[in-house]
Amino acid sequence: MPTRIGVAIRVRPLLESEKQKNLTCTKLQVKHSSKSIQIQLDDRTTKSFKFDQVLDEQCSQNDLYEKNSIDQLIQKVIEGYHSTIFAYGQTGSGKTFSMEGFDYEMATDSNKKQVLKPIINYENLDQQGIIPRTVHKLFEKIQIAHNKNERIYKVYLSYLQIYNEKIYDLLNTDQLKKNDGPGLKLRWNKKDQFQVENLLVFECSNLQEAYDMLSKGIKNKIMASHKLNAQSSRSHCILTIKVDSISRLDPDNLISAKLHLVDLAGSERQSQTGTEGQNFKECIEINKSLFTLRQVISALADQSMQSQEETQQGNNNSVKQFHVPYRDSKLTSLLKQSIGGNSYCLMIACLSPCDCYYEENMSTLNYATKAS
Ligand code: ADP
Ligand code: MG
Repeated sequence: MPTRIGVAIRVRPLLESEKQKNLTCTKLQVKHSSKSIQIQLDDRTTKSFKFDQVLDEQCSQNDLYEKNSIDQLIQKVIEGYHSTIFAYGQTGSGKTFSMEGFDYEMATDSNKKQVLKPIINYENLDQQGIIPRTVHKLFEKIQIAHNKNERIYKVYLSYLQIYNEKIYDLLNTDQLKKNDGPGLKLRWNKKDQFQVENLLVFECSNLQEAYDMLSKGIKNKIMASHKLNAQSSRSHCILTIKVDSISRLDPDNLISAKLHLVDLAGSERQSQTGTEGQNFKECIEINKSLFTLRQVISALADQSMQSQEETQQGNNNSVKQFHVPYRDSKLTSLLKQSIGGNSYCLMIACLSPCDCYYEENMSTLNYATKAS
């Protein structure tokens, strides 16, 4: 039976710049019940939506982590279940803040050009988003498991970006430096399903090594957006943490699972953001992965609903096989094992508080409802 996708809505606070422009906030109505939380976007609509979590502008990074039980999800990964956490929403709604939580500052690079540089302070957990918290907790949990049972654990990290249906390695700048190079190839591998050819996968033996890789990837991500002339809002970034464990008594007893932490491209309609020189086809190509992800989630939701109905009717044999179009895009091919099937998946749907984004927010809520 396919696993349901957990969905949390997060509304970010109004930014200083928005306050200065006197932008007004959408009046959210949030109702809590024992099983779910309802949200309604002001009185223009009577439509309300139900989710596992609705987190308002007061929500801290720690609340985001705790209320979505991410600790338990990490535990599942250690036990061998593939998992995914992804942030969805329009550009500026708080996806990167929720996933990374770093601030950026202007700095001068070796060519004396002004560039953005992340200020990464791993000492201070308060502001950190899901990615650094998860890495931190994972090593903590592995240490405990290591002391307690008969398994040896190994952690591997890879970090990639999908832009215009091309895959770039964020831990290896060779492809990134070749302005608009061909990107890395995706290959089908019977054992491991889809695999990115020549993607660097680093074994991290401790937390510091993992943080070092993370910092490198985040810096490369900024470099990539200059080199590829790609707006970061149009690319998907996937940090993959693979956890392997081998029994000390039986080396053939291997458990392996991947956790994907995904900062998706902005969900706004392309017509609003189409840049000059990009024709319609290119725009579609850029967001093909996001479009296919929607279709995959819809297909999984339909499949899950049908199997629930069949179970209620006591009829378990006739579950129709739905076509889930994983192979239609790079993003969904890569996430195939960890959305749907026997996996754990959490979607953070981010909303902007500004009233002027009402339509985009409604579209995000409709999309998130499909997933939940
Ligand atoms: P996205 O990645 O969806 O385009 P960002 O994460 O870059 O959006 O957020 C846009 C701006 O809002 C950033 O300046 C970010 O620091 C700020 N922001 C987002 N979410 C929050 C939050 N929960 N609390 C405070 N500031 C936030
Ligand atoms: Mg972002």
